[in-house]
Amino acid sequence: MSLFHSIWIALTGLAIGSFLNVVIYRGPIIWGLVEPLEGQKTNFNLAFPRSHCPHCKTQIKAHHLIPLMGYLLIKGHCAHCHKKISPLYPMIELAALLASLLALWVWGFSGAAFGAFILFCFLLCLAAIDARTGYLPDALTLPLLWLGLGANYLWSFVPLADAVIGAVCGYGALALLAFFYRRFRGHDGLGGGDAKLLGALGAWAGWMALPPILMIAAILALVWIGFLALRGKQISATTALPFGPSLALAGALVFTAQKAIPDFMF
Ligand SMILES: [Zn+2]
Repeated sequence: MSLFHSIWIALTGLAIGSFLNVVIYRGPIIWGLVEPLEGQKTNFNLAFPRSHCPHCKTQIKAHHLIPLMGYLLIKGHCAHCHKKISPLYPMIELAALLASLLALWVWGFSGAAFGAFILFCFLLCLAAIDARTGYLPDALTLPLLWLGLGANYLWSFVPLADAVIGAVCGYGALALLAFFYRRFRGHDGLGGGDAKLLGALGAWAGWMALPPILMIAAILALVWIGFLALRGKQISATTALPFGPSLALAGALVFTAQKAIPDFMF
């Protein structure tokens, strides 16, 4: 892979990252999961209105919309009202850039790399949306499940039968766990979205990937809880913590390791 190709892929990843930001911030409003802010109620979609400062509503200048560069140019503050703009925007753009290069390096310049990049983009959106709103929208988890089966039909990341079993077992395992948790503890411990996300990961990575994904996700979630506790946040047995970001990261790690590390599985 030439440097020239890598640079073009990275720039494409960066551009797609800024589109993912739009999905992350507007998707939950469009899907009716969170209330729109005042003045956003009418005619709101992925393309309209043009990007504006969340504080003063001033439209953002075109050259400040350039991924990463724009954020550095305005030094993380609105050029008009000087209020802070969330660092999540450039972080998502950077993550999409790294995901495009990771897919390219692990799968080469191929359809499979494109497929893996689509998976990474969905996981990035789901992790960010769950962290912000506590929801893993069906509008993303269900297509991701079907895309996983389609991707394995086209590019055989894992045998198609393993993918189908993975989708069923992934969804079933967490749905069952959520059922018993609700039965014995009297309140929801896991969202239904977590089960659909694990089903989607099973559809991409096969049933064999489910145990390592769950194990790594649990470790990541515990590390995150420890980090929050260290920063003085009150944590109790009933504190609702989004499991989606841990599940998404664990899924991306295991899916990549299956290809990048020979003999990772068995
Ligand atoms: Zn502003």
